[in-house]
Amino acid sequence: MHNLPFDKPGRFLRGNIHMHTDASDGEVSLDQAITAYRMNNYDFVAVTDHFLREYGYPITDTRCHRSEDFTTLIGAELHAPSLENGEPWHLLALGLPLDFPRPNPEDDGPELARKAWEAGAFIGIAHPAWYGMTTEDIERVRHAHAIEVFNHGCAADSDRGESWHIADLVLAGGRRLSTFGADDAHFREAYPDTHGTWTMVKTEENEPDALLEALKQGHFYSSQGPLFHDIALNSDRSELVVRCSPVNAIKVIGPGARFESAHGAAMTGYRFPLHQFQEDYCRVTIVDDAGRRAWSNPIWLD
Ligand SMILES: [Zn+2]
Ligand SMILES: [Zn+2]
Repeated sequence: MHNLPFDKPGRFLRGNIHMHTDASDGEVSLDQAITAYRMNNYDFVAVTDHFLREYGYPITDTRCHRSEDFTTLIGAELHAPSLENGEPWHLLALGLPLDFPRPNPEDDGPELARKAWEAGAFIGIAHPAWYGMTTEDIERVRHAHAIEVFNHGCAADSDRGESWHIADLVLAGGRRLSTFGADDAHFREAYPDTHGTWTMVKTEENEPDALLEALKQGHFYSSQGPLFHDIALNSDRSELVVRCSPVNAIKVIGPGARFESAHGAAMTGYRFPLHQFQEDYCRVTIVDDAGRRAWSNPIWLD
């Protein structure tokens, strides 16, 4: 059984699952933040204010913004001491209860992730490259669903948006984590940090529980523009067929130096041999003519 979402029932819903309002260090109100996404053809968002004492441990209640064609996940970005390098942990938790308890002083990041996981949340390891996370740090978090492999705000603020390097190291070690991209929008006046990278989640309903379950199952991909129409394994899993919106490159990437790629103008699909990825994983990146990318989740072939 594979985790590819394309042959699952439902449709892809577009969401930003990492953003901040003025309940923490975002620069706009909740109403403004939600409106900015709703008006830009998003189907859902998760507001993830910083769950810190200095902001009064906010878990922003977005339920009043749910309607027939738009929904929200309740979430927060959790913090606790500390990575190997001394930085506080940044862990996204989506689907948190509004009364999720404040951390105890002795809780570290992995323990806070465990508590949020047990409260039903999807746990995402936020922006590893931005703050010097190591593979050992990630190994310590046993309760996680995914790694944030592209963070649009981190790309804008410090050119450290990209975390595929550490994600591939962790995946090559056999850890089965999903991979997602998000804006981490703070609605900065100084530079744009919204509507750059989003998550396409496949569900039958635009409803919080269905979205949360699909995220936990890895039934999603992430994009800055181009769209995946299909990624499918053939019957003996010797080939991968990719169909997509017009792109200039399609790449299948695996552990170490392994990859396959196809290049051309306005390509809408390609068929790749998978022999070099057997008993391991591969993942797919597409790149459009503006350099915008979309990324699949890891596809496990063992
Ligand atoms: Zn963060
Ligand atoms: Zn953040």
